[in-house]
Amino acid sequence: MEILSNLQKKDLKHIFHPCSQMKDYEQLPPIVITKGDGLYVEDEFGNKYMDCVSSWWVNLFGHCNPRINKVIKEQVDKLEHIIFANFSHEAAIELGERLTKVAPKGLNKLIFTDNGSSSTEVSIKLSFQYHAQTGNPQKKKFVSIDGAYHGETIGALGVGNMDRFTDVYKPLIREGVKVKGPNCFECEYGKTRDCCEAECFEHMEKHLNENGNEIAGVIIESMVQGVAGMRIYSPIYLKKLRELTLKLNIHLIADEIAMGFGRTGKMFAIEHAGVSPDIMCVGKGLTAGYFPMSIVLITDKLYEAFYADYSEGKSFLHSHSYSGNPIGCRIAVETLKIFEEENILEVVKLKGDYLRKSSANKLKDIPYIGEYRQIGLIGAIELTGVPGERAGYEIYKIALKKGAILRPLGNIVYFMPPYIIKEEEIDKMLDIFKESLEEYLSRFK
Ligand SMILES: *Cc1c(COP(=O)(O)O)cnc(C)c1O
Repeated sequence: MEILSNLQKKDLKHIFHPCSQMKDYEQLPPIVITKGDGLYVEDEFGNKYMDCVSSWWVNLFGHCNPRINKVIKEQVDKLEHIIFANFSHEAAIELGERLTKVAPKGLNKLIFTDNGSSSTEVSIKLSFQYHAQTGNPQKKKFVSIDGAYHGETIGALGVGNMDRFTDVYKPLIREGVKVKGPNCFECEYGKTRDCCEAECFEHMEKHLNENGNEIAGVIIESMVQGVAGMRIYSPIYLKKLRELTLKLNIHLIADEIAMGFGRTGKMFAIEHAGVSPDIMCVGKGLTAGYFPMSIVLITDKLYEAFYADYSEGKSFLHSHSYSGNPIGCRIAVETLKIFEEENILEVVKLKGDYLRKSSANKLKDIPYIGEYRQIGLIGAIELTGVPGERAGYEIYKIALKKGAILRPLGNIVYFMPPYIIKEEEIDKMLDIFKESLEEYLSRFK
């Protein structure tokens, strides 16, 4: 056990950290960050860390980004909050205009929530209620694929398919229907994701064709199943899913919470398939890592099913105290302005190309790499057959000492840096991974 600082002692006294076994903190005490600057954060002892995971996938343009800091300061001096029922404000209105302009076609209306999980909840409630109000009350099931992650509230866990998060709470959960999805790393058809025809869609096709009449919606993470291990799949899967769900009057709910806002090289990942969903959830990068806010975008068709005289009882009831908060909206507006004015999609493309080139070079001849996969500015290394327990976590701990945050997903180590990362920093990130893996493996020599 290391000697703890006062801040660390007080943290451990009061704080129950997320996604953690607190006993692990005996070996790895909380790292108390005192400031952030661009790609780097600095702890109380002055150690600097490259943030290679965009601070839990939220940060797009670096820590303490000057443009965003400025608009927050302006906004707090103007209006910090206003009840969002009956009232509105300029930042929300501007956001509505800007977001619908860049969103996939047809998504014209915004519902505000506080976080991604709540957006999943909204999608489910809304889709179910839509069908009930348009003569299909029997449509009340939701389908998702294995490895799906859509948040950790009870409703969201119902459409999630990762035992690690759901097992304990099974008695509380109303489970959705799980259908076998793509598994490109171990493709049962012997194809690759770049040149297949999404043959694996047959499972979904069969299920929807046989049960479509009871199904309200299919929820899916567009292009990449993030939490499951940055599992990238073919856009053809989404294309086929869109076609069939349209035919069967099933909502396609695109979860773009992690992959939206340029991560995969497109503004929204579903654009790779050239289709539009009925419902789309965005969060995380929406506010560039500054503010907990999420949005559900829907089509006019959905919206109209709720538009009626008050007495008909067709309203959609879902509110949060902080719905449409002006500070959050102002940040999101600035995020979209930065995309436009600084040509961010092009930046992601160039840096993604560099990451691809550099990783091909640096990761060759390294043992235990089952696959390196990449889309946009996310790269993931799937370690296979690596010795020892919790290899990913152990490598993460070593990498921290070397000044990089490379928090893994099981034995999958991934790179998901803010878009401001420089080429030489991409190299360094890969070097730190490589050295950390080597150091880990040396324990078994
Ligand atoms: C993070 C995430 C969520 C949940 O968002 P929170 O803001 O953490 O509640 C939902 N879906 C996906 C794909 C995510 O990555």
